[in-house]
Amino acid sequence: MKKIKGISGSPGIAIGKARKLNDDFLSFKEVKKIKDKDVDEEIKRFRESINKTENEILEIINNIKKITDKEYAEIFSFHISIIRDKNLMERIEKIIKSEKVTAETAIKKFIDKLNKEFPENSFKTRKKEILDIFERIVSNLSRKNNRFKNIKDGILVSNDLSPTQTVSIDTKYIKGFVTSMGTETSHTVIIAKALEIPAVVGIKESIEQIKEDDTLLIDGYEGIVIVNPTENEIEKIKLKEKEIEKLKKKIYTLKSKKATTSDGKEIKLYANIQLPEEVEAALKYGAEGIGLFRTEYLYLKRKDLPTEEEQFLSYKKIIEKFGKKEIIIRTIDVGGDKFISAFEGPKELNSFLGLRGIRFCLEKKDIFLTQIRAILRASYYGDLKIMFPMITTKEEVIKTKKIIEEAKKELKKENLKFNENIKIGIMIETPSAALVSDDLAKEVDFFSIGSNDLIQYTLAIDRVNEKLSYLYQPCHPSVLNLIRITVENAIKNNIKISLCGEMASIPEIACLLIGLGIDELSMAPVAIPSVKEKILKNSYVEIKKIVEKVMNFDSHEKIINFIKNNLK
Ligand code: PEP
Ligand code: MG
Repeated sequence: MKKIKGISGSPGIAIGKARKLNDDFLSFKEVKKIKDKDVDEEIKRFRESINKTENEILEIINNIKKITDKEYAEIFSFHISIIRDKNLMERIEKIIKSEKVTAETAIKKFIDKLNKEFPENSFKTRKKEILDIFERIVSNLSRKNNRFKNIKDGILVSNDLSPTQTVSIDTKYIKGFVTSMGTETSHTVIIAKALEIPAVVGIKESIEQIKEDDTLLIDGYEGIVIVNPTENEIEKIKLKEKEIEKLKKKIYTLKSKKATTSDGKEIKLYANIQLPEEVEAALKYGAEGIGLFRTEYLYLKRKDLPTEEEQFLSYKKIIEKFGKKEIIIRTIDVGGDKFISAFEGPKELNSFLGLRGIRFCLEKKDIFLTQIRAILRASYYGDLKIMFPMITTKEEVIKTKKIIEEAKKELKKENLKFNENIKIGIMIETPSAALVSDDLAKEVDFFSIGSNDLIQYTLAIDRVNEKLSYLYQPCHPSVLNLIRITVENAIKNNIKISLCGEMASIPEIACLLIGLGIDELSMAPVAIPSVKEKILKNSYVEIKKIVEKVMNFDSHEKIINFIKNNLK
């Protein structure tokens, strides 16, 4: 038995025999010549295989549109553009004609030329797709079946798989795949997830350790491959699979239910997301909207800054998937433990107490204005709300609102559409904001408590320092009191209040928050079913009684234990 660690490509568990793919379809060495009189016939053969390949790809696009999002199908538009590129195909025909070689040899020569002609980088980025297209053409030339069709009941092991190869996998026969290349965000992985094919990617050197016919157990949740597992390992994974099946059923049955307490109080459960792609998960787990979109991730993945147009399209993409549901876009929250490459500020001794969140935005007004314009423009298409992080003073809110007005004026001048009445909210994540929330409430339409930071700043613990994790106490009386004050001030001023920190994803604590008067919670999508399940079992009246009691307790431990023991 051997355990190989990789990256979790696509969740799921699979057991089967290793089926190794030889990646090099052009590995033949000899130049295959043809006679003069056979040139026309060879060109005909080449054209037929192009037609066949085009039909194959169109069929893939149709199939994928039926089972998943339209967007995945768009990945293949590049394939179609290449296959329909007359100039390109004529270059291959010219080689057949002038050098009197078979279509296979002409393709090989053409690819060698491409390798030399293109600057390394531009060819490299599309190389996988280009090779994939020509591999299909070569396979259609020999009228052999797609090589995947010969593989029955196994796990594909390959250096790399292209998106088209991935969609060609027939899950009746192929249980999953392992590749040495790939990351969590590669297109192949996106497709594998959409098609629910278990996959472990990025295992690099270790691929050589897998031999044809080895039994493989792949755990796509953890990104682990076990080569020739013991009976014990197989038993363990089967148990895990059963648990997961149960959970899936639960997710499915809970998805369409509202999160209502047993005595009828409705709670709204929203999702926190970092990238537009995560909307899929939010929908799958039954989120009623997006309670927090951490937009800084649009900036963190790159060296330059995203343009207004790029941001606008990202926000619009979320709206397109979520329809009329509420979406809260939090403006960029950098600083602390998140830094953007496009802005190299001076090193701060204590970055969590430094130029973070709204402080950064008010300092870098041009970056901020660009983002606000993008959000405003997207607001025209759905129920977008805008929210600001790391507020400590009322002045910050006033300055921020002025910038929104400035952006609105600009857009009006440019005749660009937006929602005039977009709702503006702030995160309450510093003790100062909680303590002056009565004043702040008069300036905004809603509050969202950022408990991750509220805990960090109240208990004076660096949230990324694992040595202090024992002090990360969401139910510390000081934290609960700050939450209570904030809720009271929101209610008093008739504005909405929600909470979007991690504590909302712990079912018992979610109930505690409900008892404190919060009826909107936002969390990682995967946490929604368990929180919903807890809410459904308990009554609002009982929850309130429990909470009234624990608010007199003097420690996190006592509070947690009491709610755990007294909730259903
Ligand atoms: C929070 O602080 O609770 C929050 C939701 O924001 P972030 O985790 O992004 O700081
Ligand atoms: Mg925060």
